[in-house]
Amino acid sequence: MLHDELTTTQHLLELDRAHVWHPYGPMPAAITAQLVESASGVRLTLAEPLGGHRELIDGMSSWWAALHGYNHPVLNAAVRGQLERMSHVMFGGLTHEPAIRLAARLVEITPEPLQHVFLADSGSVAVEVAMKMCLQYWQSVGRPEKRRLLTWRGGYHGDTFHPMSVCDPEGGMHQLWGGVLPQQVFVPEPPAGFDAEVDQEYAALLADTVERHAAELAAVIVEPVVQGAGGMRFHSPGYLTLLRRLCDEHGVLLVFDEIATGFGRSGALFAADHAAVSPDVMCLGKALTGGYLTMAATLCTGELAAGISRGAVPVLAHGPTFMGNPLAAAVANASIDLLLGQDWLTEVKRIEDGLRTGLAGLAGAPGVLDVRVQGAIGVVQLDHPVDMAGATEAAAREGVWLRPFRDLVYTMPPYVTQDADLARITAGVAAAAVAG
Ligand code: PLP
Repeated sequence: MLHDELTTTQHLLELDRAHVWHPYGPMPAAITAQLVESASGVRLTLAEPLGGHRELIDGMSSWWAALHGYNHPVLNAAVRGQLERMSHVMFGGLTHEPAIRLAARLVEITPEPLQHVFLADSGSVAVEVAMKMCLQYWQSVGRPEKRRLLTWRGGYHGDTFHPMSVCDPEGGMHQLWGGVLPQQVFVPEPPAGFDAEVDQEYAALLADTVERHAAELAAVIVEPVVQGAGGMRFHSPGYLTLLRRLCDEHGVLLVFDEIATGFGRSGALFAADHAAVSPDVMCLGKALTGGYLTMAATLCTGELAAGISRGAVPVLAHGPTFMGNPLAAAVANASIDLLLGQDWLTEVKRIEDGLRTGLAGLAGAPGVLDVRVQGAIGVVQLDHPVDMAGATEAAAREGVWLRPFRDLVYTMPPYVTQDADLARITAGVAAAAVAG
């Protein structure tokens, strides 16, 4: 490929359509992707205008990740500084300060029982590791029959095979994988509403299901408080308290997948904090590196690690090539310092207020089923599947980048989004909801 041939936007996009898979896309792509030239603060700069704008305010934080915005001087400096020392070294037999500091920091800021950290290279792998930890724990302590997982419907935990098995059966397209995915135990979606009372009928169903399956259950795995890609639904932290009690009573491990909710997004540093409960295993990702590089983490308790280490195979059998990548760890450390060095909760609440105010007018609008806000997450649920191309274009006309899916137009802006830009984001959501 001659270099010159690659210079025009048109040609790049042709190559993109011909050769590049995009998330959940057909080949070739049905919709041409937008070419991004750069990103700074909360703005993406496109090669060509969309909806009349080349600069779009990012209402998605690159899928929950870029909580400080783009091209941030502090995060850039952390990457550059680490790059001068080393970008990567293997983690087998070697270690380094960025990873050590990160692990210690994560242990410090997550619930106290979580003591050990596995640094994985994506959220799905972190969930794989979490599930492997649980199954291996029960094998090691002489209960190999405990190898199923229980979860509630409407969840999303990633796209590799074991995580897919605990995604919502419809959203996760289980029908495509009959005979391939492990068969897990499902209960209905938790009743909606962060502020709603715990539904006693649902609680009884949960208790009964955990009890009936306890002998074969390795763990319960859920996204606490916010179910993300499975439907953008919120539920009461009371269900987390209930799950903790049920798991304790019946000898089942509890896994919280905080890959989307971690680092303040739901209005607490971790969604588990809303209920003041600790899981046995917690997965983090997405915002871990401030959206700069791919890295995720699986944390577990001392008891779980000790159990695994007492087994016939006394090691955790997982070790990706790019485990603990120093660049990613260095920028994760800088991102956490940046977040915790400011009054992040006030910023998240400011975004929450702006979303509530800006989206309130959509409640009851034609085609709108529900409007809900929790922390720095705003959701408009339609009563029909969204026209993704039309809705994306309508948001872009307001100068905003959104990526609606299914029947949902939603936003989780970077925490640094200022009020005027936030008002434009909510205008973009409204335009997308009407057009969609
Ligand atoms: N778990 C949750 C709750 C998620 O939201 C996601 C991604 O959307 C994942 C796991 C998978 O993470 P990744 O896309 O980094 O593999």
